[in-house]
Amino acid sequence: MTDGTRELVIAMDGPAGAGKSTVARIVANRLGYLYIDTGAMYRALALKALRLGIPETDAAALADLADATEVELQRAPDGGNRVLLDGEDVTAEIRSPAVSAVVSQVSAVPRLRQRLIEVQRSMARAGGVVMDGRDIGSYVLPDADRKFYITASLQERARRRVAQLRAEGHEADLAAVEAEIARRDEQDMNKGVHSLVQLPESIVIDTTGKRVDEVVEEILRHCRRT
Ligand code: C5P
Repeated sequence: MTDGTRELVIAMDGPAGAGKSTVARIVANRLGYLYIDTGAMYRALALKALRLGIPETDAAALADLADATEVELQRAPDGGNRVLLDGEDVTAEIRSPAVSAVVSQVSAVPRLRQRLIEVQRSMARAGGVVMDGRDIGSYVLPDADRKFYITASLQERARRRVAQLRAEGHEADLAAVEAEIARRDEQDMNKGVHSLVQLPESIVIDTTGKRVDEVVEEILRHCRRT
């Protein structure tokens, strides 16, 4: 029992740059839960593919790569995730624009997804988790106690992503980032059973124009209700 709630399984889905990972991490911290950033797992595999020169179009090679790769999430001191790729800390590197450019296509490979989804489900088995991604409420954890769909306008998502990239020392152009996010939305909404969808049972949170702490409180209110 934490913060007046049972140990819930909380799914958070939504498009790129909607603020999911920021709020998911804080909500998990506030509840004393484990935060699981599934996008980071796909990014780690995309990074390994880039390093090995495997094209994002080579589904068979990517599936083999997933079978031969260990992706692990550890809890970082700020409640976020430290991402280990075959034991190497790649937490910063997986956020690079080069990885963002290929990750959606890499993550569309079915066998690669199945492998990571097994890991995601096993991490959620004991409850007390906040998991963010695209297909969490629909496919990975269909029995989740709470399902959120976190969204924001494309313009706001692009502005936030630019600020984040610049803060991390990457060059970022607003128009280019907006085009990249729009392309990723399109790909993420067309992945068959793993598509990003707004489920009828999802609680929709539009973060456009809202502060992070307002969004966090709104989500926590929904988690307290039984
Ligand atoms: O959440 P983030 O933007 O870091 O995710 C990177 C990419 O990984 C997404 O654009 C999406 O293509 C893919 N992804 C996915 N399923 C998830 C999480 C992320 O396909 N559950």
